[in-house]
Amino acid sequence: MTKEKQKTNRPPIITIMGHVDHGKTTLMDHIKKTHIADKEAGGITQGIRAFSYSYKGKLMTFIDTPGHEAFTKMRERGSTISDIILLVVAADDGVKPQTKEVINLALHEKTPMIVAINKVDLPNADVTKVKTELATAGVMLEGWGGDTVSIEISAKTGQGVDALLDMIMLVADLEDLHEDPSQNTGIVLESYMTKTTGPESQVIIKSGSFEIGDFVIGDKSYGKVRALINDEGERVKKADVSTPIRILGLSTVLQSGEMIIGGKDKVKLEEIMSNKVTAIVDDGLDTVEINEIEKTPIELLDALMNQSKAADKKPVLNIVLKADVVGSIEAIKNSLENAANDAVDMRLIRTGTGEITESDVLFAKSTRAVVIGFNAQISPRIQTLASRERVIIMNYKIIYELVDDVVTAAESMIPPEIVEVYIGSGEIIDVFKLSNGSYVAGTIVKDGKVVRGYNCYVTRGGERVYEGKITSIRHFKDEVKEAAKGVECGISTLPSFEFLKGDKITCIRIEKS
Ligand code: GDP
Repeated sequence: MTKEKQKTNRPPIITIMGHVDHGKTTLMDHIKKTHIADKEAGGITQGIRAFSYSYKGKLMTFIDTPGHEAFTKMRERGSTISDIILLVVAADDGVKPQTKEVINLALHEKTPMIVAINKVDLPNADVTKVKTELATAGVMLEGWGGDTVSIEISAKTGQGVDALLDMIMLVADLEDLHEDPSQNTGIVLESYMTKTTGPESQVIIKSGSFEIGDFVIGDKSYGKVRALINDEGERVKKADVSTPIRILGLSTVLQSGEMIIGGKDKVKLEEIMSNKVTAIVDDGLDTVEINEIEKTPIELLDALMNQSKAADKKPVLNIVLKADVVGSIEAIKNSLENAANDAVDMRLIRTGTGEITESDVLFAKSTRAVVIGFNAQISPRIQTLASRERVIIMNYKIIYELVDDVVTAAESMIPPEIVEVYIGSGEIIDVFKLSNGSYVAGTIVKDGKVVRGYNCYVTRGGERVYEGKITSIRHFKDEVKEAAKGVECGISTLPSFEFLKGDKITCIRIEKS
């Protein structure tokens, strides 16, 4: 790629808008041929739905966000995300207040609009009436003295939907949509705090691409992309222009309509966002290191378990579990028991149904437990109390996610098995004390070899009296990497140790399994 600004084509972003009940959801469902509503608990649970769709080999992205805050915010910022507004009007109902709002918005933003006259399968559908009302509202349709295209469809039967998609592609081609791939930018549709993964942002990529590991800068948020989740709920390594994606790893919840930029080069990003970086400095956040971002619950959970491990005991995870119904408690209990491993002690120290209460939080605090909710309600007051008392609350809708997270944290706690691989050994036949107070073991290698940089231990009378690392091996005056059987050498180690003549030194390599 040259240094010059390159412009490449990109897939169109189509926003579906219209009056309530005119069939936007049904149309989206038909286009995607999946029942999005059925998938919501596992996928995007928030207000905005966006997906990419491949039609005749070309990608297009649909967003369903009628009257959503993100759009108001974007307008305030003078930016827009829609390349095409798809206005859905029900043929049995005609132009309604929200229809008019969309028309005004499209005219104001000068965004191309396509009208889908929906529900034409209904006996009381009246297309001519709709067209007349549209003209009155300022939409000049093709054949009616203007150039706005209208297509008659039935989102229910699928009639006319292909013609609509063809038209979208045509309008998109005429619009000649470009991006500058040298800049990776995105617009935040929605951002929220999740109990499992921390701040999560739903973003539409405006130009370039975002990859795992990229630095991301928003108005007041730094971060590093930890995970990217596509519209199917799958984790991906990279997301390209015009696609909707959920980004995990930012330090805070972003604002709807906010622009973010991403890339590998943090300094360059800061240059591009210089105004925004100044804002960060002004906020006194300039010292925040990207890798010191707020910990997510799962990391905190790890940290909590690490603390109990540090006490040199089997790690213990105390859990206060609150679920919607008793049946869920049993199911979760069984799943956790099945998933349990010997290395970690998971203890359900309190279980109950209903809302997460003050007493749950305080009990968790005193027992160093985490509160795990399953479809449990939490009031803002309890949230505040928990964050003040530094009690972790993790709320889930899906049992396997709950179990996965707990098990992942538990597994990360199993200390790796340390294996010592024997390399060689020797007898210490002389000991020299250096001017800095450390000792050199004059050694004759009796078996195998000794290697600089490897670990070693010393035995005296069969008992291990020292463990350390070989930092230097001298053969006569020369520093050598290793000394083999039969060679006499001077071995220095760290930490320093007062060797005695007759000690046996063994060279080992440490491996983690
Ligand atoms: P939205 O509020 O705009 O998302 O509207 P929905 O997609 O939820 O549709 C509202 C109602 O209209 C639902 O009961 C749909 O089944 C029905 N509907 C949507 N499109 C059609 C259509 O083309 N024909 C008929 N007969 N009903 C439709």
